[in-house]
Amino acid sequence: MLPIVYHPSYSDLDLPSNHRFPTSKYRDIYQYLLDNQLANPQQFYMPEPASIDDIKTIHCPDYVESLFNNTIDPKVMRRIGFPWSEKLVYRSRHSIAGTALTAKLALEHGRAIHLTGGYHHAHYDFGSGFCVFNDLIYAAVQALKEPNVDNVLIFDCDVHQGDGTATMAQGNDSIITCSLHCGKNFPARKALSDYDIELDKGTSNDDYLATVEETLNLLIRLHQPDLILYDAGVDIHQDDDLGYLNICDQGIAQRDKLVFTLAKQHHIPIAAVIGGGYSRDKQQLIQRHFNLIQQATKLCI
Ligand SMILES: [Zn+2]
Repeated sequence: MLPIVYHPSYSDLDLPSNHRFPTSKYRDIYQYLLDNQLANPQQFYMPEPASIDDIKTIHCPDYVESLFNNTIDPKVMRRIGFPWSEKLVYRSRHSIAGTALTAKLALEHGRAIHLTGGYHHAHYDFGSGFCVFNDLIYAAVQALKEPNVDNVLIFDCDVHQGDGTATMAQGNDSIITCSLHCGKNFPARKALSDYDIELDKGTSNDDYLATVEETLNLLIRLHQPDLILYDAGVDIHQDDDLGYLNICDQGIAQRDKLVFTLAKQHHIPIAAVIGGGYSRDKQQLIQRHFNLIQQATKLCI
């Protein structure tokens, strides 16, 4: 049975009605799975919130304290893109812990999914692009404490570069970072991941899927990771508001299938986060993210 991690705080954020962040999608996906009996209640796990000290293990203490205490510089908040609120701190504490829990469950069950995550623009001492704390780095660092985990691959297929993940993993040989992203997209200034694959605007299914397969095969061969953290952002979709690639629904489903299949073939546990997805059509957005759960579920049988 596929473990799925979720917490109600993921969609509990008060934002202006015209805000671009798809606040409700986390709850919408959770509800869609239950309403359509695509998952049963026993599959769901809820994270405990990460403490201030937990988060300071990966982020600058001053940054973390200023967020917890609401003494943060307004300029720093503007770069994150959210107004400060108690709810935002509460949500961020759960989402960072949720990815760590997903990684733990993946190590136990082979695979697991987090119904948020992929806050890859969060850097050591500042957040940006809707990312407060870097859940991928936090999960990798936590997983590396396990006796059988010597290295973790962060395989980031969100359309935006995982710049915060890249900078935070620099100097840590146990965390291998790979970002496949559209070169002409946020962030304007790219960081240096261990592997950066820049895709041209308008890249379509065949080229994209061949690149994903070739890259992941190479990384597995070179590094033999003990765990894969997979950012399955669907902002690669041709109709996404913030992406410039030309990938259709089928392409997303094939990508997710490919990544899970390769992990299974090589007996590597895989923890997936749903990542970005910014279509304003809620039903379409749910379906795009649902691909991930569907593909992972099929491989559990
Ligand atoms: Zn993105």
